[in-house]
Amino acid sequence: MSTGTRMVGDLLPRGWSFGLDHARTRLGCCHYHQKKITCSTYLIAYLADDEVEQVILHEIAHGLVGAEAGHGKVWQRQAAALGYTGGRTIDVPEARLSARWLGVCPMGHEILRHRRPARKAYCGACARRGVRGRVTWQDRGGDLLARG
Ligand SMILES: [Zn+2]
Ligand SMILES: [Zn+2]
Repeated sequence: MSTGTRMVGDLLPRGWSFGLDHARTRLGCCHYHQKKITCSTYLIAYLADDEVEQVILHEIAHGLVGAEAGHGKVWQRQAAALGYTGGRTIDVPEARLSARWLGVCPMGHEILRHRRPARKAYCGACARRGVRGRVTWQDRGGDLLARG
């Protein structure tokens, strides 16, 4: 994956790898024991490239300074040195990321809504194919921003 002009591989600590996961409650994760940084395919789909880079930088800083550093001064300095501009958690100012309701139709199309949706909703993607796909809604709670 390319992050702007830099490649993720150039930023990773020596011996570390990068991968994707399917988390729905956080953007990135630093797996210290496996020396691996992962990002959620599901959530990064909602982010711009520079936002994804911020997520990766946040996690790379964790990888470089180790778990014990937490989000303390050492981590903050390392993160800033990499070009990370966010805080202890990644505050992506994107309303779409915090969409509370996730709807899924029988075909697996996903729909995000901020407000409680009408109980009977049909999938637009399915409708375009002439199929009525009843959407099942899931309340994801308020906060989907990165933790950890
Ligand atoms: Zn559908
Ligand atoms: Zn963190």
